[in-house]
Amino acid sequence: MFTKILIANRGEIACRVAATARRMGIRTVAVYSEADAGAKHVAVCDEAVCIGPAAAKESYLRAEKLIEVALATGAQAIHPGYGFLSENAEFAKACAEKGLVFIGPPASAIDAMGSKSAAKALMEKAGVPLVPGYHGDQQDTAFLNAQADAIGYPVLLKASAGGGGKGMRVVEKSADFADALASCKREAINSFGDDKVLVEKYLQRPRHIEIQVFADTHGNCVYLFERDCSVQRRHQKVIEEAPAPGMTAERRQAMGEAAVAAARAVGYVGAGTVEFIANQEGSFYFMEMNTRLQVEHPVTEMITGTDLVEWQLRVAAGEQLPAQQAALQINGHAIEARIYAENPEKGFLPSIGTLKYLRTPEAVEFSLGQGNEPAAFRIDSGVREGDTISPFYDPMIAKMIVWGKDRTEALARMRQALAQYRIVGLHTNIAFLSRLMHSAPFTQADLDTGLIERHHDSLFPAAVPPTAAVLALAVAGLLQNEQQAGSDPWQSSHGWRMNLPLIRTLNFSEEEQQIAVSLQYGAGGAHQLQAGDTKCAMQIRQAQAGQIQLSLDAHTISGEVIWDGEKVHVFTGGQHTELHYHDPLAHAGDAEAEGGRLTAPMPGKIVAVMTEKGRAVKKGEPLLIMEAMKMEHTISAPHDGEIAEILYAVGDQVSEGAQLLAFAQTH
Ligand code: ADP
Repeated sequence: MFTKILIANRGEIACRVAATARRMGIRTVAVYSEADAGAKHVAVCDEAVCIGPAAAKESYLRAEKLIEVALATGAQAIHPGYGFLSENAEFAKACAEKGLVFIGPPASAIDAMGSKSAAKALMEKAGVPLVPGYHGDQQDTAFLNAQADAIGYPVLLKASAGGGGKGMRVVEKSADFADALASCKREAINSFGDDKVLVEKYLQRPRHIEIQVFADTHGNCVYLFERDCSVQRRHQKVIEEAPAPGMTAERRQAMGEAAVAAARAVGYVGAGTVEFIANQEGSFYFMEMNTRLQVEHPVTEMITGTDLVEWQLRVAAGEQLPAQQAALQINGHAIEARIYAENPEKGFLPSIGTLKYLRTPEAVEFSLGQGNEPAAFRIDSGVREGDTISPFYDPMIAKMIVWGKDRTEALARMRQALAQYRIVGLHTNIAFLSRLMHSAPFTQADLDTGLIERHHDSLFPAAVPPTAAVLALAVAGLLQNEQQAGSDPWQSSHGWRMNLPLIRTLNFSEEEQQIAVSLQYGAGGAHQLQAGDTKCAMQIRQAQAGQIQLSLDAHTISGEVIWDGEKVHVFTGGQHTELHYHDPLAHAGDAEAEGGRLTAPMPGKIVAVMTEKGRAVKKGEPLLIMEAMKMEHTISAPHDGEIAEILYAVGDQVSEGAQLLAFAQTH
């Protein structure tokens, strides 16, 4: 076995690999970009080497540099994780040439699966079922159109060299074919430098079912059953589970054997995934093979009781597979949800920023847990509280994985886990995932790749005003804060003096909605709250470090209240509400203060600086242009004044609220 490996990746997968290596007594070398100097994967490895600036091209994608670091640190092998160089045949070759073990398949197998057309031709020979279609070399329009007519509409055109959902066109009828082909070829040549396309039958309401395979260098090859990854947005997986609901033993065996045949056909070694597209009634067709470990591998680990990274390391070191097919069994059900820093309400746009507050359900990390049963809750994450999600890399925060004896138990645990996951500081998809986990189609396992789009209305309900419970918790949180700060304006007697009630109006807002809450202090803490027409009696039972319990009329309510500047985050009943509190004292004198600080309205990149230090400017004069969310925003002078300092340069990334320049107002 190796004594030292280099992990050529970052984030959760780098931490994941390090956890298994540590358990096996293998030393680890982390590599990191300048943006990742303080990252978790650097902290959990035994050694770490900086390999360049933040941009992946200049760091994690530098094959030569990675090999140089491996040789210099005495690592015997390189684990590429997923993404970056994990499916780069040149890198695998270069490792071998320098006497390093690439923990993955041989370069020839990566190459064989690189082109969709070539892979399909290979699979056809190996007897693996294919989607009806044409994937040959003839590319003239009339010929392909005739092929499509023979297949029957709708058909799907795919760029042979494509990936990531790009270069695909659905064609509904023969009359549309020529135009769609021309446009598909244009996109293919622009994106992949190769305009070769293939034509397939476009399946209706298909499911994405993939098989985990594993092969060693001794001729053994097994399948570790299937994962259902049908819940996707823009052809990207959101939820994965194993086993696939509704799978029969016969079909599982047929798909498993087809996947093993696919792996054997390319001389596969190590962990691989054969992706199939399946009809609702169960027929399945080869789509592509991913020649690496997948993001969703933990669900397979949980139901098979295996550590796939350990298998990878053993196979790469020349050992036999740790188990043969007959010894592999499915135990229970596992579901994984990908927690992303993104805004589902804004088309799943990535959200960058700092994880100011992070509380997770109690869970094991990167492992199966201990004992006879797998752990019920597992979290694989590459970030900690205080870390930032930067615009340079994938905005995944964590993978929440649950295990249960059956799907019902696993689903209940996922709902519970998401309700306990608390993040303040950036947008996340947690509430969206929670709605998905409570939705009828997911609960009933009525799965297909169009689930999210088809149920868009129920998954993206119109915003509802905050409930009385949320407002009461926010008010209680405010009172607790004021008490701690000694700034409660009514603190001497908690607002109650000489039998006269005292009334305060507290102004909150949610999005554009203004919410005024009137608080009437009562003797012994028996307060009255009123918001709109709703009146409640509120009594705080317990309030400690944001954990609040109160009674509201006849109900007992508990929740957590976290302050982030003037934003108050209320977590209760599995819901997260963000309110803005308008503190009348904090805003006194704002007008002057604002003149001296010009801040970024949202995270973005500086694309132009139109002024310089010391320059006198007129009110309304454009000073800076930043690009955020694919649009340009001009920052202009709020008054006549002078530029005291410019704090960023063109090309810099700025976070939301960052001061961009200092401004001295002229009077
Ligand atoms: P990419 O390599 O770009 O990810 P894939 O061939 O893996 O492309 O397909 C991505 C997704 O597109 C699949 O998960 C599925 O949702 C959809 N898809 C692919 N082929 C078909 C087909 N023949 N019919 C219907 N949907 C398809």
